[in-house]
Amino acid sequence: MIMRTRFAPSPTGRLHVGNARTALFSALLAAHAGGTLILRIEDTDAERSRQEFESGLMEDLAWLNIHWQEGPDKGGDKGPYRQSERTPVYAECINKLAARKLVYPCFCTPLELDLARKAQLAAGKPPRYAGTCAHLGTAEIEARSARGLKPALRFRVPEAGVTGFEDLVRGRQAFAHRDIGDFVIRRGDSSPAFFFSNAVDDALMGVTHVLRGEDHLANTPRQLLILKALGLPVPQYGHLSLIVGESGAPLSKREGGGSVQELREDGIFPEALLNYLARLGHRYASNEFMSFPGLVQAFDTAHIGHSPAHYDHQQLEHWQHTAIRSVEPARLWRWLTDAHPDMNALVPDDKRTVFLDVVRDNVTRPAEGLLWARTVFTDHFEPDEPSLAVLRAVGQAFFDRMLVCFKKEPMEFRTFAKAVGAVTGLSGKSLFMPLRAALTGRVHGPEMDRLWQLMSPERIKRRMHLARDLCKT
Ligand code: GLU
Repeated sequence: MIMRTRFAPSPTGRLHVGNARTALFSALLAAHAGGTLILRIEDTDAERSRQEFESGLMEDLAWLNIHWQEGPDKGGDKGPYRQSERTPVYAECINKLAARKLVYPCFCTPLELDLARKAQLAAGKPPRYAGTCAHLGTAEIEARSARGLKPALRFRVPEAGVTGFEDLVRGRQAFAHRDIGDFVIRRGDSSPAFFFSNAVDDALMGVTHVLRGEDHLANTPRQLLILKALGLPVPQYGHLSLIVGESGAPLSKREGGGSVQELREDGIFPEALLNYLARLGHRYASNEFMSFPGLVQAFDTAHIGHSPAHYDHQQLEHWQHTAIRSVEPARLWRWLTDAHPDMNALVPDDKRTVFLDVVRDNVTRPAEGLLWARTVFTDHFEPDEPSLAVLRAVGQAFFDRMLVCFKKEPMEFRTFAKAVGAVTGLSGKSLFMPLRAALTGRVHGPEMDRLWQLMSPERIKRRMHLARDLCKT
């Protein structure tokens, strides 16, 4: 049987890091087995679902290089792939359950349900539906409906027994029916409840494997009961541990759990995010940077961890650094110029390749690339605080001597530095730090002799004057 996995987001916001990981794991699992990834849009909540979020989700997935073979935009023979377009499918399944008296109308109001729940909790019992409407007679149901009341529809959970399954990640799971309680499968406004449409769609779309967040674990026995009642096939479920922030609490936006869109706009490379997410709760034997096919090949549900996955922004920065070191120059250039189109005019065409090569190791965001381009190819000079401190410490005399050593005709940086060292008596760090600060306005950066080669002698001379002037104050 060909493996079929799915990613089933609700289009109520942009794709965030946690959902992106679920999508990635589902994609890796399917691709590893030569199977199919389905994208299903769970838009039954008409109020919160928005078309722009649906397109945003697709855009973010595609940017991450996560591609689905069936979905609202791709088609496929198990569609439609938007739940809002599947109303007749759900109605048919509900009719089947109703014919077998496996569902009943429930008129309880949210307030009544809330009070019952609180009473159960206070009595130390697990909160479950008390069964208030489980045995209403036909006349009673008709009378209430005639008053205009719109009932929800509840699934009758068998009194006795246990529903269990083998979780792909967490092993054997078992839930006693008496703890589950009859649950709603269609709301009073006739929209299908999550448990129901999600389970029915997985079965009818031929999904064989479901990877999703641990927060859905308790839903699974209910979904299995629905599928069993309908005689539909059951997928294998795997529940992924939640992603937690540094504090151990579920990942918050502040701790880095923002949206994929935000990370992209911040300049994160998709390969960096992929390498990071693929290891967030999944062990890879190799710590090397991997291409998408590499991640696919070594993916294995047996390597998914049980304990919460800790989100660590430093790790993402590590992969970002690695990605920048390995991307093609043309892509690196596009990354810089997409964010800062003015770089096209700043960096001369014939110097572009060398420039990229020189700054690559010292850039993690496009803005840093822009800064180096301005430093090398314009008279922009805005030393940061550490550089200013270094410049002030050596004082004007240093620059007077530096200017004396500088010759208009081409000279190597090392020759120049040696000459300055000879007249100032400085060497090592005490010599190179002020030279770097004076020429770049920074105390760290790309190799000085390579930057020097890219700068014209006139620019270097002007820079030395600027640095000298700054020491006057
Ligand atoms: N729409 C659900 C969610 O976004 C899908 C859950 C699932 O993957 O089964 O949480």
